[in-house]
This record gives sequence, structure tokens and C-alpha cells, in this order.
Amino acid sequence: MNTDELLAFDREHIWHPYASVVNPPPMVPVVSANGVYLKLADGRELIDGMSSWWSAIHGYNHPILNNAMKQQIDQMSHVMFGGLTHPAAVNLCKILVDITPPSLQKVFLSDSGSVAVEVAIKMALQYWHAIGKPHKNRLLTIKSGYHGDTFGAMAVCDPVTGMHHLFNEVLPQHFFADSPRCRFEEAFEEAHIADFKHLLEQHQNELAAVILEPIVQGAGGMKFYAPAYLKRVRELCDEHAVLLIADEIATGFGRTGKLFACEHADIEADILCVGKSLTGGTMSLAATLCTNKIATGICQGEAGVFMHGPTFMGNPLACSVASASIRLLLSQPWKKLVHNIETQLQLGLAPARELAGVEDVRVLGAIGVVETKEAVNLRELQAQFVDRGVWVRPFGKLVYIMPPYVIKQQEIKILTEAIIAVLSDL
Ligand code: PMP
Repeated sequence: MNTDELLAFDREHIWHPYASVVNPPPMVPVVSANGVYLKLADGRELIDGMSSWWSAIHGYNHPILNNAMKQQIDQMSHVMFGGLTHPAAVNLCKILVDITPPSLQKVFLSDSGSVAVEVAIKMALQYWHAIGKPHKNRLLTIKSGYHGDTFGAMAVCDPVTGMHHLFNEVLPQHFFADSPRCRFEEAFEEAHIADFKHLLEQHQNELAAVILEPIVQGAGGMKFYAPAYLKRVRELCDEHAVLLIADEIATGFGRTGKLFACEHADIEADILCVGKSLTGGTMSLAATLCTNKIATGICQGEAGVFMHGPTFMGNPLACSVASASIRLLLSQPWKKLVHNIETQLQLGLAPARELAGVEDVRVLGAIGVVETKEAVNLRELQAQFVDRGVWVRPFGKLVYIMPPYVIKQQEIKILTEAIIAVLSDL
């Protein structure tokens, strides 16, 4: 197929994320990717500001990651995980247990972030069921959150942006506290958590867990909140015997300037979800870690086992590249790289504050966000960004970037200048 034929088939037959197939959005055909560059079918190269939705932290086509996969292919690409184990999974789980808080000792591998969240929710529910408190089966979360597109995960996404009304009849009903009002850099006051505290106190006997994205709320609004809020959440969960699930699928592996965002608040979750950049953006893989207490509770209950087991659980190819990606990250001065990106983003995006259509500009770690006053026209803006040689994909009122950590100063400058230029024309 030539490019025109490929695009025609795509328009006719293929669903894309959150897209119409009746009035399909224009697609940008990409043929390869290297470092921070996406190469298009017409030969143009775009600087990638998205890391393929937080995942490609080392850039694309990285020889170390490629090599890990090539070597693993020659051993085995996949074997079932029921009754079998293998070095790729064991090595990865050892790394995960080593780099996460000491209380997290048990690892459940799955195929995607949404499934990791389903697993986390199921762990919490099965735990309370197993220890004789089956009525503790609801969740408390904070508005503006995002946890994935499957039903369990969707039920804890922001009720408005998550379009709960479409699926109301079948979605489990959970509790939603106000989104934290104190920004990352602001001082926390007890009043900021009043709504959350009230719901927790009121429903503690029904609550299995609190689930939230620590510090950075991603697809639900790209908001950064104060570490002290998260610390207080941890305390309140302990006081009221409610588990805490930290969804670090977007924030994990250095993106916010800490290896895991929970470290900003110096807290440990009872259940932790990671995904996205776990494999450096090469393969789909996620993991849910939990404490021994939860794992033991589950396995001493009625079922005697944890009731989950995906076909591609522990996929060796994905596990081997995940280990390579984490080792590569830790072998680099990643904190410095992320800090440098933060400084550059602050500098480069600051002029957006002066623009008429801009509501807010915020930067944390290697994440830069410009929030506009009105929702932007995605089709128009995407085309303008491509014309300027960058890949930036806004949604709603958010024009945001989280580039690969290997991006150079000059390339960040091109990205931020493109954002300023495009938003100046609004
Ligand atoms: N949790 C968070 C915080 C996410 O950002 C995402 C993905 N955007 C998910 C869960 C779901 O992950 P996946 O798309 O891999 O299912």
C-alpha cells in the first residue's frame, strides 16, 4: 500500500483512541521513530513532545532496549505464566520490589495500565472479603482523576470528563471528593481536604480503598497538587482502616522528578500500579504491587487464591525490555535530566502566561502544561504543530508536553516556541 491507500483504509476501517469512524480525524502517517524524532511518510521529522503518552522516556529505537528484546526473542517471546516461571519475569519483579517502598513485596504483572488498576481494585475488594468484611467494597477517589478505560477503572475516573452518564446503569458507584485545591507549590491547609475527610469518615465502613494519582492528575486535568495533601490522605486512610491505592502509571519512573511521585510526600501506598514507561514505551506491560498483609489476607480467604490471570501475564519479551529500561534509567543521571527539562520548560512556557487565551501555565518535573480558557480545536492545532515540526497533541483546554528524558535543550526550545506561536494565533 502506498501512503494514500494506507490512509484510505485507515479512515474506512480502523478505530483510533477516542475518535470517530464516521467523521474520522486526520491521521499523520509515521514510518519510523528514532531518539526524540518521529519520521513521517513524506520524510518530515517531528520532535516528539508526548513520549507516546508518557511512555517513551528513553526516546525511540534505543539500542539497549532493542537489544534486550532481540535477545529475548531468541529465547522465547512468550510462554504462559500459569505453572511456569522464567528469568525475564523474575528479574523484573526483583527490580520492582527493590526500587519501590519496602512494604510492597508482591508483584502482579498484567498487560496494560487499565488492567493494573482493575487488579488493584480487585485486590482491595478481595482482601476485605477474605478477612470477613465484604461490605467494605466501595472506593473513594478525587475528582479530575483518570485511571483507565475498562469498567472498573472508568468508574473511578472523573465523573464528568469520564462520561459516567453514558454508562451509569452498569458502572459501580463510588465516592468522589473535590479535587485538591492546593497546587503543588502552595501551602496545604486542613480545609483543603475537608470534603475528602468528610466522605472518608462518613463511609469508612463501606470503603475498601482510596484510589488516586499521586501529585499529578494526568488525563483528568493535568493538575499538580501539594505533597502535604497526599500525606494527609495517607494518615486519614490509616486512621479509618481504608487501603490506599497509588496509580503511578503516568507518574512512575522519574517523570515528576522523583522515581515515584509518592516520594514527594514521603508516603507508601498499600497497592501501587505502574505501567506506561515501565518498558520504556516499547511493549505493553503493567504491574500492581501490594503489601504482604494484603497478599496474605487474600490468600487465606475463601478463594485461597487471587482471582486474576491474564493470558499474556508476565510476557517475557515485555518483562525483559522493562528490566532493561529501568536499569538504563537508573544508570543515568536521570534526576538531573528531568530537572534540566523542568528548568527549560519553565523558561520556554513562561511567555504563554501573557497570552490572552491562556488561563494557566504549570510545570513539574518533565511535564509542561498550558491550560487555555476555552477548549482548543484539536484538528487545527495538531496540523499547526506538525507544520512547525513538533508532535504535540492537546486535549480539551490542555496543551501539554512530557518529552523523552533524552531531549536536548535546543529541541525543548523548538517545542516550547511552537506552543507559544500556535497559542498566540488563537
Ligand atoms: N492510570 C493512569 C494514571 C493513566 O494515565 C493511564 C493511561 N493514560 C491509565 C491508568 C490507563 O493505562 P492504559 O492506557 O495503559 O490502559
